[in-house]
Amino acid sequence: MPTATRIFNFSAGPAVLPLPVLEQAQRELVSLPGVGMSVMEISHRSKTFEDLLGTAIADLRELSGIPAHYRVLMLQGGASLQFSMVPMNLLGPGQTADYVDTGSWAEKAAKEAARVGTVKITGSTKADGYNRIPSQSELALTPGAAYVHITTNNTIEGTEWRSLPDVGRDVPLVADASSDILSGPLDITRFGLIYAGAQKNLGPSGVTLVIVREDLLSRSKSDLPVMLNYKVQADNNSLYNTPNTFGIYIFGLTMKWLKSLGGLAAIARTNERKAAKLYAEIDRTGFYRGTAQPASRSLMNVTFRLRTEELEKIFEKDATAAGLDGLKGHRSVGGMRASIYNAFPEEGVDALVEFMREFERKRG
Ligand code: PMP
Repeated sequence: MPTATRIFNFSAGPAVLPLPVLEQAQRELVSLPGVGMSVMEISHRSKTFEDLLGTAIADLRELSGIPAHYRVLMLQGGASLQFSMVPMNLLGPGQTADYVDTGSWAEKAAKEAARVGTVKITGSTKADGYNRIPSQSELALTPGAAYVHITTNNTIEGTEWRSLPDVGRDVPLVADASSDILSGPLDITRFGLIYAGAQKNLGPSGVTLVIVREDLLSRSKSDLPVMLNYKVQADNNSLYNTPNTFGIYIFGLTMKWLKSLGGLAAIARTNERKAAKLYAEIDRTGFYRGTAQPASRSLMNVTFRLRTEELEKIFEKDATAAGLDGLKGHRSVGGMRASIYNAFPEEGVDALVEFMREFERKRG
């Protein structure tokens, strides 16, 4: 296959990046315009890089309407390190943090937090195989909790919070938004803190975005390891140590790309349309079976099964041969998963729908 030929990449992450972003990075790889070096070869304290970081954050702020009293951090360690940093910074002795258990990542987040302090699991849908998001009445929130943690999109199980829970005015809502951040408009003021690994909707892996309400920084105790202290990271504008400079550069290009599409309302319309096409095909005859309950269906990760595991293997093999890559579900749940993040082209969704019809015609 010529290297310039791209297939449709349904991977859950690291995931497809916008083609214009890759092309610009390719053009600028050896020499950033006006700099004569690549972005990987310049000091993170140079004006060039500081401008690049500042612009990336300013564009993100503009896109998602982040109010001035929120800080934006670009950290490392992935969403998984946030599972630890969130409680280390926000959960004090004698306090409880509520965790809503909606999937494998949510469960992992709660387990890590329990190493740090007192955690209460509230609103678990584990008994239903995590096939839905709990309703508000199932949440049984702890009055005066240090925070309530949710996973806005459950990457493995293909469910997504379509409206946010009401956790009261005084308790911060903390969200792992790794797999649906910037997939549509976001009311930042509903959250105390949002975090996301970049490798699905924001850029490459190795950059972790944290958006935190400024007043919460006062909870970070000075005896925390410095690298794990939100306040230190905020005071140093994410430059306490050497950040992932190349990753932040790609993040910045991705923000420009989102702006060029008309912002988050526009991308949300496209995402709704892409997901609706796939769910319509899944529901069309009963040959395919969606695993998430319809009201909880994710716009980003569309999970479905076929009649038998044998048939699923054939589906995956034939799909790969047809240039539709990465459709195998997570190893923990099996089945199929089409991850259709912002950068996944609508033509790829159409190609998958076409493939599904043809497969059913042959095997149904
Ligand atoms: N949370 C969610 C919702 C995820 O989808 C993932 C990764 N797929 C993680 C956390 C873990 O992210 P990381 O690999 O960046 O630590």
